[in-house]
Amino acid sequence: MYSRIQMKSFLATTIKNINQYKLPPTPENYHLWFEYATGKTNDLNEILDKEVELERIPSEALCSNLYKQYIATKQQSDIDEARLLIKDFLKEMIAHLQGWDSSSDDFSNSLDEYLNQLNSEPSINATKDIIGKITAEVKKIRSSSSNLKATLHSLTDEISELRQDVNRLGSEALIDDLTQIHNRRGFDMKIKEVTDRANLESLNCALIVADIDHFKKINDDFGHQVGDKILKFVAATLQKNIRSNDTLARYGGEEFVAILPNTTHNGAIKVATNLCNAVSSRYLSAESNEQAIGHISISLGVTKYAQGESPEQFFERADKNMYRAKSLGRNRVEGDDK
Ligand code: GH3
Ligand code: MG
Ligand code: MG
Repeated sequence: MYSRIQMKSFLATTIKNINQYKLPPTPENYHLWFEYATGKTNDLNEILDKEVELERIPSEALCSNLYKQYIATKQQSDIDEARLLIKDFLKEMIAHLQGWDSSSDDFSNSLDEYLNQLNSEPSINATKDIIGKITAEVKKIRSSSSNLKATLHSLTDEISELRQDVNRLGSEALIDDLTQIHNRRGFDMKIKEVTDRANLESLNCALIVADIDHFKKINDDFGHQVGDKILKFVAATLQKNIRSNDTLARYGGEEFVAILPNTTHNGAIKVATNLCNAVSSRYLSAESNEQAIGHISISLGVTKYAQGESPEQFFERADKNMYRAKSLGRNRVEGDDK
């Protein structure tokens, strides 16, 4: 969770950027530039930073695309939460406006009407429509009162803080409890993000699938607890040997997957070979009784992304290559056919 001071600084950055690039002050732009200010979504920041580095002004069209790619894809639950937040926002606003002059009465009445509409659980598109109308009303009244402007900013602050809570709760469910790397859900989100970007910018991208060899026998011989420790060891070893921009996930039981953005097939083969050696070179023993476990190994499949294909097609090819590595003797790497 961010502190109030951090939130204020994020909000100030958001407003500064929207003004500086002369972007319309829509909820979409606020949301996008707020995300940028937090720096939470690396890829988004990289794209916007690159635009500025090249001395190009981020256009409305680019912002709209980035919004669709990085923000609008968030979970339905986030959208529901956002709807609740907007309702609270409106309630506070209406309470605040009571007893103001007659120009704010009209404003207050319109907000009341939107609150009613939100109470009837509208569709996402209808919600967006309502937000658009609220924004238009807010813009109209904003120019007429600086006091109200200050209130709007502080309320926006509150909403952003609540939104961070919602996002934090969402992201906790993306991590695997045992190994502390991404879980299947985290992988599904990340692979979509990376392949969307690879398509948009015609970038290379590669995937490595790694499965522990004869893991059932390890569990049978040494027990489940030792098995769990080995899963942690493999996750930590893989994590240590990939770059910070890559994403490692536990796909299922003893199967791991690494997403490598901006990486060629050859590059990924080298990484996978390193991973294979890093795992097999360690001699392991069970700490509790120093019982020797010996060397363990993994089999790896590598594939490169083909423009336009789905994340599922991408994954299936890497998984197939991994199974070929199993059938050719395990403890090895197999890539795409030449
Ligand atoms: P192969 O080399 O062909 O991959 O053989 P394998 O024995 O590794 O493959 P198999 O799919 O037959 O067995 C996987 C085993 O992984 C079976 C299951 O008990 C174990 N496993 C899956 N998840 C966990 C876990 O969270 N903890 C532990 N300790 N074991 C797990
Ligand atoms: Mg296995
Ligand atoms: Mg398996």
